[in-house]
Amino acid sequence: MTIPPVTCINCGRIYPASGIPYCCPICGGLYDLAEPLKLNPARIDSSQPGIWRYRHTFGLGIIEKSISLGEGNTPLIWTEVFNRQVAFKCEYQNPTGSFKDRGSATLVSSLLALGALEAVEDSSGNAGASFAAYAARAGIRCRIFIPEAASGPKRQQIASYGAEIIDIPGPRMKAAEAVRQAADTGITYASHAYMPFNIPGYATLAYELYDILGCGPAAIIMPVGQGGLLLGVGRGLQALVKCGLLRVMPKIIGVQAKACAPLWELDRLGPLSLVSNEEEETIAEGVRVRCPLRGDTVIQMVKKTGGWFVVVEETRILRGRDQLAQRGFYVEPTSALVWQALEDTLPVLPDPVVVVLTGSGFKFVDHPVSSQASLSHNHPGLFCNMAGQPTVQCPPRARFAIAKTHPAGLLVRVPAG
Ligand SMILES: [Zn+2]
Repeated sequence: MTIPPVTCINCGRIYPASGIPYCCPICGGLYDLAEPLKLNPARIDSSQPGIWRYRHTFGLGIIEKSISLGEGNTPLIWTEVFNRQVAFKCEYQNPTGSFKDRGSATLVSSLLALGALEAVEDSSGNAGASFAAYAARAGIRCRIFIPEAASGPKRQQIASYGAEIIDIPGPRMKAAEAVRQAADTGITYASHAYMPFNIPGYATLAYELYDILGCGPAAIIMPVGQGGLLLGVGRGLQALVKCGLLRVMPKIIGVQAKACAPLWELDRLGPLSLVSNEEEETIAEGVRVRCPLRGDTVIQMVKKTGGWFVVVEETRILRGRDQLAQRGFYVEPTSALVWQALEDTLPVLPDPVVVVLTGSGFKFVDHPVSSQASLSHNHPGLFCNMAGQPTVQCPPRARFAIAKTHPAGLLVRVPAG
């Protein structure tokens, strides 16, 4: 059995030869890759599909199975925006509709190498759907703990892959507690946040950019929640520099929703921000992470690249979604954060600029009929979640009532009677 070398970042102990813990059983510390990723241009295997061209960077042994659904090799589409040519990396075209598939492919391949037969997860979003798909592909029995109130296309997607859904009453944190209790009984907790085995998969995005562009991007803009993608791409770029293909690190611009922007606040205010770290509702649900586990590491990575964090006001997110859709990119609100960030930062960014579009719009339903594009920013209203609680309060020019459950999705909005 050969997997990437992993150590506890707190006590330095190496990953145990038996068991598949999600954190250090001795001190409770986080696991991370023990060494930088190593890219050898001579070992890139062009005969392999997608991310598997870079398999030699994954730390998997020759005999270990590659669990693949055709992830990676996503289109890089150039288009003129704000009077500049910008490249959009269409990660939403991955097999389950999000960038998570790059990480799930290496995570599940590693878990299989470790002997996992069953695993639990606690995401009702893209990570849960992606893990369920790759677990199905690997023949790993899979249980996903999700908040009882979570609904919509992603829940349906998770169930369709054959994962057993465990409904947990209460807020998101209750599902996280429940899954950790299950992990305490010895079941593998395949957490996309705790486990570091997905990072080599995310790094392939950086290698692909180099291969397609024939050079490095000068700047990359992407949404940030836990920061796994950012960390993976950053380490991939570092590997490109280390092996001599890139001369300088591209700047990484991390984008958060203003309603929940702990990395932006920590970077701006330092530890003081921890006192006032507040979380509000946001339709950018994929980046609603109040306490990113690897927050310090993610901030350090952004700093090393000469980049920074930006935030997007809630009322600007759907406008970004619409602007992207009008150029042919149909993404979910979390992905659409990049539009406002692009508008704000492009004047000071060097070419070429790459924007990562992380998740598909097919998984997000915010209105049963069309014309949402104009409704969303011309006639703001009141968004509700499935529990009927308001999520985004907008100006009262058009008054909307709290919606009752709509069968089609998570967010619904109806005119007041
Ligand atoms: Zn430890």
